[in-house]
Amino acid sequence: MSEREPPVGPLDALRHPRYAGLRTFARLPAIESVGRADVAVLGAPFDGGASFRPGARFGPAAIREASLLLRPYNEPLDTSPFAEAQVADAGDAGPNPFDLAAAHGAVEERAAELHGAGARVLGLGGDHSTALPLLRAAAARHGTLSLLQLDAHTDTWEEYFGAKVTHGTFLKRAVEAGAVDPARSLQLGLRGPLYSADDYPEDRAMGFATVLARELDRVGVGGALDLARERLRSPVYVTVDVDVLDPAFAPGTGTPEPGGLTTRELLAIVRGLAGLELDVVAADVVEVSPPYDAGGVTAMAAAAVAYDLIGLMVRGFA
Ligand code: MN
Ligand code: MN
Repeated sequence: MSEREPPVGPLDALRHPRYAGLRTFARLPAIESVGRADVAVLGAPFDGGASFRPGARFGPAAIREASLLLRPYNEPLDTSPFAEAQVADAGDAGPNPFDLAAAHGAVEERAAELHGAGARVLGLGGDHSTALPLLRAAAARHGTLSLLQLDAHTDTWEEYFGAKVTHGTFLKRAVEAGAVDPARSLQLGLRGPLYSADDYPEDRAMGFATVLARELDRVGVGGALDLARERLRSPVYVTVDVDVLDPAFAPGTGTPEPGGLTTRELLAIVRGLAGLELDVVAADVVEVSPPYDAGGVTAMAAAAVAYDLIGLMVRGFA
């Protein structure tokens, strides 16, 4: 990085008030204006894969709006991500609202382009189906990925109404595509009523390790991170389905399940990854549905976790 120009950071809030100007994530430069990025934020405003409440197509815009208050120094991670690396907003991909394959194809193509140029990619959903093209693009660049999934749901069901690619089946498709290695993966926060007693056993039979939300009461954040240390191997992809949070903290989502994590627990887990010396090559924050949000709290939580994910990625350059 030393021979390069210093990164262009966000607008200075002491000169340009936070509520003014065009919306990019954290008021970072658009990627076109800086030419390249170490970390690129890519919106995937598509919710045609949602089985219940829609609205996640408005997620990227709401997360960008909620990101205006982010400040330059990430205290818990002891990093100034926007000064230590070039982070830029790559805009949105995949906006075709009527054609899942076309939308996913556009997301994958844009993400692959960014990875190909050497960037790490942080996706902003969109429903969780948009993680499939993001995972495929990251795996094409980095090989089969180790996945940390923070989610109320396994997303390894076979199909819905004959549809193979939905937000509840994307992970099974990602495993079948060789993009994710379940034996190097961990699902955290699972809970809620299931279709059958076989759902979790079938998920684990694919090779996934799980920490149910209620098990966190016993093992705590530290226990979850111990298991993460055991399971995850670089290169790592972190996918955050915002419904991992309790509806008290994240009502604005498509498939809410009571009994979830607090925002503080989620952030502690994500930040705790910094101690595991893992290379986070890509990540996403999905399932923010602003029409069901109250006071913008869900988008606010999503922006906070996105900021920490960027911090983790930037630490990977150190
Ligand atoms: Mn979910
Ligand atoms: Mn999900």
